[in-house]
Amino acid sequence: MIVSEQKPWEEILGGLDGDNSIFILGCNGCAEASGTGGPVQVKEMKSKLEAAGKKITGTMVIDFLCEKALVKSRLRPKTKDVEAADSILVMTCGIGVQAVSAAVNKVCHPACNTISLGGSRGEWKGKERCLECGDCLLDYTGGICPLTACTKGLINGACGGASNGKCELAPEKDCGWELIYERLKGLNQLDKLSRFIAPKDYSKMMPDVKTMATSLWALEQTS
Ligand code: SF4
Ligand code: SF4
Repeated sequence: MIVSEQKPWEEILGGLDGDNSIFILGCNGCAEASGTGGPVQVKEMKSKLEAAGKKITGTMVIDFLCEKALVKSRLRPKTKDVEAADSILVMTCGIGVQAVSAAVNKVCHPACNTISLGGSRGEWKGKERCLECGDCLLDYTGGICPLTACTKGLINGACGGASNGKCELAPEKDCGWELIYERLKGLNQLDKLSRFIAPKDYSKMMPDVKTMATSLWALEQTS
């Protein structure tokens, strides 16, 4: 299980600045279990955003947003609603937001921060990875995690060492920042690269005692 918490309301609204119409996507997997992106929270978010003057073109809750093929097939009947939106607000963990961003050619905003369980979780088979940093940056990077896609975990752009699109430290791997650049270019959002992202507070990657206790309790129940 991947645990998430909703970002502060001001941050969610700030991320949607300039977008008048929004499609909201929730997840019936870990986000539903975390109480951050299930049907209840999607309904609440719709009401709050409408009260804030946003037009909601549609909502959907999908079983697992981390499964790109499932996202594509489930969203197909909602294509017009998605196309009518300026962007998608994705209410789930960092892996889910990355998967939706890769599956749908649309600006995706993360509504949640993924928080650490101290390593007591499984690995998803998809290639998207989240370090559970507790302060999701995917809004700035076209839905590609700079902490995992870039070998050095740089958050303010490329190191300059890439060669033919490959990382200087891991030549078998695509340069994460070149992928971010191409994604933002395709979304007409290259201006996001001019924003400075302040150094991260890495203490947020430490699991808090209450979350750890809940996680260990859940593990005990299933073992
Ligand atoms: S920025 Fe990356 S590591 Fe942090 S929550 Fe988002 S996907 Fe996870
Ligand atoms: S070459 Fe690209 S992926 Fe590798 S460390 Fe530099 S910016 Fe990061």
